[in-house]
Amino acid sequence: MTIPFLHQLFLSNKSKKLYGRYISLDHIEPLIEEIGKNFKADVIGSSVLKKPIYSATIGNGPKRILMWSQMHGNESTTTKALFDIFNVFSNSNESQIKQIIKSCTIFVIPMLNPDGAEAYTRVNANGVDLNRDAQSLTQPESKILRQVFNEFKPDFCFNLHGQRSIFSAGNTDKLAILSFLAPAQDDDSSVTPNRKIAMDLIYRMYNALQIVIPEQIGIYDDSFNPACVGDTFQSLGVPTLLFEAGHFPEDYNREITRELIFKSLMLGLDIIGNVSDLGSHHKFYFQIPQNEKLYRDIIIRNVLIDGVVKDIAIQYEEVLKDNLVEFIPRVDSIEVSLNLFGHREIDANFQKIIASSELKLDNEIVYVVINNEKFSLFS
Ligand SMILES: [Zn+2]
Repeated sequence: MTIPFLHQLFLSNKSKKLYGRYISLDHIEPLIEEIGKNFKADVIGSSVLKKPIYSATIGNGPKRILMWSQMHGNESTTTKALFDIFNVFSNSNESQIKQIIKSCTIFVIPMLNPDGAEAYTRVNANGVDLNRDAQSLTQPESKILRQVFNEFKPDFCFNLHGQRSIFSAGNTDKLAILSFLAPAQDDDSSVTPNRKIAMDLIYRMYNALQIVIPEQIGIYDDSFNPACVGDTFQSLGVPTLLFEAGHFPEDYNREITRELIFKSLMLGLDIIGNVSDLGSHHKFYFQIPQNEKLYRDIIIRNVLIDGVVKDIAIQYEEVLKDNLVEFIPRVDSIEVSLNLFGHREIDANFQKIIASSELKLDNEIVYVVINNEKFSLFS
């Protein structure tokens, strides 16, 4: 599947009803009704606050893929991409799409944590991070995912998330626009046969995406944490992949990243459907740079503060207000020669600045004035 083909496929199948960062059950329920006309759509259980958790099943082939999104309620980008993909499988007559339907059975949970999605929080309604509940299974949402895993018996798992805007792909100024991980399944991070398959699949997606976002994909470190769902499913012998939708410059609504996730998922399915020796290229996975936390949303350089020149990093806090996510600029750090990169950089040229409130850690700063020029810090 080529990148131009995927771009066209995205443009003609993008779900126009989903946009921006705030995606809750209210947004997706009408779309699930639509999906039900073409695929099997079910309610597989309910959340702490008794909201339905939905699934959709696509295709009827021998390769079984389980994917779930928004286990962290405020990580909505991958959910948007899933609905774009549902449209592809509903509408497209392309042979490559028909081939996936023939070779794969794809079980999708588009919103595992509807309560967290509604409140725009990472955790569920009991304040539990579902991605730390894989062993104790204390929460209804965790139990549902585990039950699906046990009954569906996947050959592959795709664990779909969104990451903060702070990551660089390696110790460089390259952004990690997307990240992946083939989670470990033991304390030694052993490269087991199922992990090799996950690594190879990640490498092949990474490789195909180089022409779109060269060197801007990272992998997370693979220290083992059995409380995480990916690590648990990997340890049960199923090749499991973590997908992380990251930040593209100025794309705070994550609409560009949405397309990149769409492309990754379609590539992943196409590779699973067509490649018979998955695992053979796993060594190349280790060439992918490891994520570092070298980015902040804004950096104001060379600010004269009490006679000392310092850099100020500003990071947005995401706050839900009137059904929209607002990005509140807050002081993240103030240091001499800050060793970080800004998605946006402002140079104060060794002068004093006037800020909308005191320059202090965690304070909200909505504008600064440098040499009589006012800079708004909103996104
Ligand atoms: Zn997450």
